[in-house]
Amino acid sequence: MKAGPAGGLMHVVGAGLAGLAAAVALAAAGREVRLYEASSHAGGRCRSYIDAELGCRIDNGNHLLLSGNRRAFTYLELIGARDTVEGPADAVFAFFDAKTGRRWLVRPNLGRVPWWILSRRRRVPDTRAADYLEALALWRAHPGARVSEVLDKTRPLFARLWQPLAVAALNSGVEEASARLLWRILSETLGRGGAACRPLVPRQGLSETFVDPALDVLRRRGARMQFGVRLRALEFAGDRLSVLRFDSGPVELAADDRVILATPAAVAARLVPGLTVPELYSPIVNAHFRCAAPPTTPAFVGVIGGTAEWIFRKPGVLSVTVSAAGRMVDRAASDLGQFLWRDVAAAYGIRSITAPPARIVKERRATFLASPDQLSRRPAATTRWGNLMLAGDYTDTGLPATIEGAIGSGFTAAQGSVVAGDAGSLPAKLQGAWLRAAIGTRIWREQTPKLQ
Ligand SMILES: Cc1cc2nc3c(=O)[nH]c(=O)nc-3n(C[C@H](O)[C@H](O)[C@H](O)COP(=O)(O)OP(=O)(O)OC[C@H]3O[C@@H](n4cnc5c(N)ncnc54)[C@H](O)[C@@H]3O)c2cc1C
Repeated sequence: MKAGPAGGLMHVVGAGLAGLAAAVALAAAGREVRLYEASSHAGGRCRSYIDAELGCRIDNGNHLLLSGNRRAFTYLELIGARDTVEGPADAVFAFFDAKTGRRWLVRPNLGRVPWWILSRRRRVPDTRAADYLEALALWRAHPGARVSEVLDKTRPLFARLWQPLAVAALNSGVEEASARLLWRILSETLGRGGAACRPLVPRQGLSETFVDPALDVLRRRGARMQFGVRLRALEFAGDRLSVLRFDSGPVELAADDRVILATPAAVAARLVPGLTVPELYSPIVNAHFRCAAPPTTPAFVGVIGGTAEWIFRKPGVLSVTVSAAGRMVDRAASDLGQFLWRDVAAAYGIRSITAPPARIVKERRATFLASPDQLSRRPAATTRWGNLMLAGDYTDTGLPATIEGAIGSGFTAAQGSVVAGDAGSLPAKLQGAWLRAAIGTRIWREQTPKLQ
């Protein structure tokens, strides 16, 4: 393979959400994009596929968006998929206690003044309004502090709200997860009022929302996309990256060409000399049960005190997510199916004690572990090579490894890759998103000095 004539080709390697966001942003800015992906499909850790055994289409894992995920929604608007997600008009979260059978709703009010904590009917049962102020301790926490060292584990609010939130958002146990990172999440969501916390999920599937529309837009804008091509090595010449060596052949870079490496952390660390990345991972287990629940039941339920953590009702499927699942990832799929089903049946009022046909998906390297020491290993998007930028949920976005973080990283890398002066040609919406991402990351960096 030989790159096209000089004129600034944008080579994006990796078609997960970070790479897709970068490619879409660059294409929107009128740049000529080349997208390379090692596997046969785009989407990386966020995609849907047909499961032959279950006989239906499933997501690799349940992904929840919040209405306040500004980078994600900018991306959805760019690819014309804003209306492919759905959710309630209010911020409503249904919970079920697997030990007592108790059910409740947490309903933050839409405005920024959090008067919902004054209302027994909106806040977590057995809590007082004053309990919620404890969250401010996360803001003041030492950069090395973990969630369980800062919040009081003995209070009902911990088990019923802070812990499920932290584990779901950071995919790390509270004994390990960074207190500061949880604060960042709270300030981007609850801190901006219920309007930023409306839970939203893809109406059909992850690919139909995040992947297929992006590929359509890229195709329409003339981007050249190659699948099944794995980047094996990078070659450098002075302060520039000069050759991308794929297993299918080399791509020699012209003087104006730029590269965004949007592979997972471990791959980037193998390719880029001297790159430090998070090295510990946290698994996520998903169980998809072929089973229809009545449409009157909640679209998703948080389970407290059980094995399942979040259960999502989808057409013909009930889907369970267990984050920070190190304790169960080595167990046999049949065992996992059986004991996760107990929680599903109880939460959705299903009588059958025998689990229906299920697909268990274990993502051992779902995300990096969000512990303070692993966060300190996140690299910046820029590298010492002028034409090479990094993108991916593992880069130093100030956000956990999420859709929002991955997309934000893609935007940041795209912005860094366009030469100064070109920004004027970028869609205004995108410039705003980049600006917000950059400001958010800067505040994060200032508040979070690197650990020694
Ligand atoms: C089970 C599960 C549940 C999750 N739940 C949520 C959730 O509820 N909410 C949320 O916001 N986030 C969630 N996440 C996290 C979210 O999916 C990730 O943060 C995001 O998808 C990461 O995108 P990425 O582009 O950074 O990386 P990836 O998706 O890993 O993309 C990297 C791409 O690079 C390709 N690649 C690798 N090596 C090479 C190579 N050598 N050459 C070319 N291409 C290469 C890969 O095939 C892949 O397509 C979840 C993740 C998992 C696994």
